[in-house]
Amino acid sequence: MDTRLPIFERPNVRKALEDSSLVGQTLTLRGWVRTKRENKNVVFINLNDGSTLKNIQIVADPTQHDDELFRKITVGASLAIEGKLVPSQGSGQAVEMEAAKIVLLGESPQDYAIQPKKHSLEFLREKAHMRFRTNTFGAVFRIRHALAFAVHQYFHQHGFFYLHTPIITGSDAEGAGEMFKVTTLPFDNPPRDEEGRIDFREDFFGKPTNLTVSGQLEGELGAMGLGLIYTFGPTFRAENSNTTRHLAEFWMIEPEMAFYDLQDNMELAEDFIRSLVKGVLRHCTEDLAFLDARAAEENNQKPQAERSTMGLLERLQFVAENAFARVTYTEAIEILLNSTPHKKKKFQYPIQWGIDLQSEHERYLVEKHFQKPVIVSDYPKDIKAFYMRQNDDGKTVAAMDVLFPGIGEIIGGSQREERYDKLRERMQAMHIPEEELWWYLETRKYGTVPHSGFGLGFERLVQFVTGMGNIRDVIPFPRYPNGAEF
Ligand code: ATP
Ligand code: MN
Repeated sequence: MDTRLPIFERPNVRKALEDSSLVGQTLTLRGWVRTKRENKNVVFINLNDGSTLKNIQIVADPTQHDDELFRKITVGASLAIEGKLVPSQGSGQAVEMEAAKIVLLGESPQDYAIQPKKHSLEFLREKAHMRFRTNTFGAVFRIRHALAFAVHQYFHQHGFFYLHTPIITGSDAEGAGEMFKVTTLPFDNPPRDEEGRIDFREDFFGKPTNLTVSGQLEGELGAMGLGLIYTFGPTFRAENSNTTRHLAEFWMIEPEMAFYDLQDNMELAEDFIRSLVKGVLRHCTEDLAFLDARAAEENNQKPQAERSTMGLLERLQFVAENAFARVTYTEAIEILLNSTPHKKKKFQYPIQWGIDLQSEHERYLVEKHFQKPVIVSDYPKDIKAFYMRQNDDGKTVAAMDVLFPGIGEIIGGSQREERYDKLRERMQAMHIPEEELWWYLETRKYGTVPHSGFGLGFERLVQFVTGMGNIRDVIPFPRYPNGAEF
């Protein structure tokens, strides 16, 4: 066996299947048994090592190996196999391996959960520690990797610096939802101050702290010296939303750009997503083709009215090739007021200038009216965060949300309020404590510049690209209400 070969010279299944110069050579492959078929004269083992969706077929002569070994080669068992790579005699694969030596690395008893049949995603969520060994999750997580890598590549190529913002934050004014507290105080008997309130002066940081809901505020500080920055890290929201689009722990990409106005911000957001989609279409063809077929099968099982007209690959190509629609919030409300579902009272939530767009409204705009991704801008200031730049109309702010088919909001962003007085005024009106964000305000006092940024929920992007309906299936270990098992 080749264990003494330098690590990166050891071929894996992908290389064995793709590199024709290896045909005729003897090599060692390691992996997990996906299936085994046998008769008196020959044993066929399908081996997968995660490097690719495809399995390699191992052909073994049962008379050459001991019976005990073959009995233990069951679905899920792990093997190292030395053998010759030869052109395959069967159809279905170009090459196969003739096993000379087989070493059983780990047995897999009969109650192994991942049998060679279709398992429901719900079942696999309960076996999340094993689901990496399925075709679907192998494809999803290889694509997730490709997207994460492409994110860094995109920003690096365009002169952005990767800035690590804190995970533990001292401010709870980020304004993006409920937070998880971080403390070392004993919660059954915390120290109290004179008025009987919990005395955080005795806590680890000497003040209350939380897990961050966004790296934006700190990201802005970085942009005010580095120019173009982005963050890509975990964010936490303790909101009790049991939906297919919310996690309690998710990864967010947040670029922040000095000297960008809202138009520049939209241009970047659109170019960014479309580049990422183009990239996976180029580099993840095999995994995407598998997920496309999977999605088509699922789609066919839905009632006619709920079926999507485009397949997964078609949808990705469409996004890669077509410009996003752009409307202001005010125009979007007009469209919704004139829509058939509104007139027929089919929307659950009423429509009126000033409301926060609900998921049903966003979906109508994207899936029915425009039939493409939509960027909605200039929302009413009262439904948006304090840091968004106030427009001259006195009613709206320079916000933008990017809405995607099947997903809803994938990006939320804005041009930031760079005018010191306007920002302070807004913070006061919204009861944001100045003493907590004094450092944020100082960027507006010393050398302030127009700037913009946005947050892209990474898992929502992975959902769109893989066509997976539930966000819990695109992150290796999902965190959600009552869910933190693995
Ligand atoms: P939503 O309205 O969908 O709950 P939000 O308005 O709270 O989202 P933002 O605070 O604007 O979201 O966060 C920026 C992006 O982060 C969103 O566009 C979305 O892609 C993603 N996101 C927000 N909350 C979650 C969550 N709980 N789980 C996964 N992704 C999320
Ligand atoms: Mn938002």
